[in-house]
Amino acid sequence: MTKKILAVGEIRDGEFRNVSYEAVAAAKEIASGGEVVGVLLGENVSGLAQELIQYGADRAVVVESEKLSSYTPDGYTQALQAVVEQENPDGMIFGHTSIGRDAAPKLAARLDSGLVSDATAIEVAGEEVIFTRPIYSGKAFEKKVVSGGKIFATIRPNNIAPLEKDESRSGDVSEVTVDIKDIRTIIKDVVRNTATGVDLSEANIIVAGGRGLKSGDNFKLLDELADVLGAAVGASRGACDAEYCDYALQIGQTGKVVTPDLYIAVGISGAIQHVAGMSNSKVIVAINKDPEAEIFNIADYGIVGDLFDIVPKLTEEFKNVVVKS
Ligand SMILES: Cc1cc2nc3c(=O)[nH]c(=O)nc-3n(C[C@H](O)[C@H](O)[C@H](O)COP(=O)(O)OP(=O)(O)OC[C@H]3O[C@@H](n4cnc5c(N)ncnc54)[C@H](O)[C@@H]3O)c2cc1C
Repeated sequence: MTKKILAVGEIRDGEFRNVSYEAVAAAKEIASGGEVVGVLLGENVSGLAQELIQYGADRAVVVESEKLSSYTPDGYTQALQAVVEQENPDGMIFGHTSIGRDAAPKLAARLDSGLVSDATAIEVAGEEVIFTRPIYSGKAFEKKVVSGGKIFATIRPNNIAPLEKDESRSGDVSEVTVDIKDIRTIIKDVVRNTATGVDLSEANIIVAGGRGLKSGDNFKLLDELADVLGAAVGASRGACDAEYCDYALQIGQTGKVVTPDLYIAVGISGAIQHVAGMSNSKVIVAINKDPEAEIFNIADYGIVGDLFDIVPKLTEEFKNVVVKS
């Protein structure tokens, strides 16, 4: 049976985050030939709506309000609930981001519906929509179906490929008017804390450092390598606890979960709590002087040696390759 599925776009600094296009692709799969409606919330965001359509949505609905210029649980829930009431969809897809993780369960509970969080794959078998999601810190995967109510799901960034952009596509964009009130959270300032401009959770390449770096100053080695590769810099909690870098860079069970195409772990032992946040990376390269380090058990390529010799050499080599290609 065909379905009507809403895909929630996430906007940062006037642009969609990639996971918005991935949400449209996921919605398209679930809709099985039905309708995909892009949803945009914010202030002065209507101009972006056609882009969701170019990535596969059939049309878009927008809630414009200065009260939605920053995320608040109250504001978003009121706006999204109004959209759901107007559209009466069969389901709604969010990115598994800070916003999606907060808003999706709240909305699903209000609408007496099931939620699958952190899905990494979706398949449709007859009437069933089957979501795959990691469990036990990424050591196993489970398959889930929503058996009642609407289908709410959050999808892990970088796992479901977006559809190709088609600039010839266009569709209807309509506005839902919502009187947003009683917002209990006041956003005074938004402080973004990343060493490079690349967002960790959506980065295609990550260079992550651990306690093996020995000091915060030595993280410059990673910055240089990341610069050449257009990568984001991440870290183990060991490195954050040692104050080599900010906790905003922490990857793992209590940090960010990432799924880049390439993950380069430098001086990281591979503790289970770290691996929980990066084991789904497509290619893992580990650099460690200890050949018995746990990280080599999950690495596709391992370099045993002193990172202070290896990283500068890699940076130089990549400079040649990247410049030539
Ligand atoms: C509840 C809980 C939650 C946690 N959550 C997280 C989390 O989210 N993320 C996380 O990362 N950790 C987390 N941890 C901590 C985790 O258990 C480890 O302590 C941490 O990951 C270790 O960091 P590390 O690998 O950088 O340090 P270490 O374990 O000290 O490893 C350093 C590595 O560097 C190598 N090395 C040293 N010098 C060199 C050199 N010159 N060249 C090459 N290699 C070198 C060593 O051989 C070693 O393997 C959590 C722990 C708990 C209890």
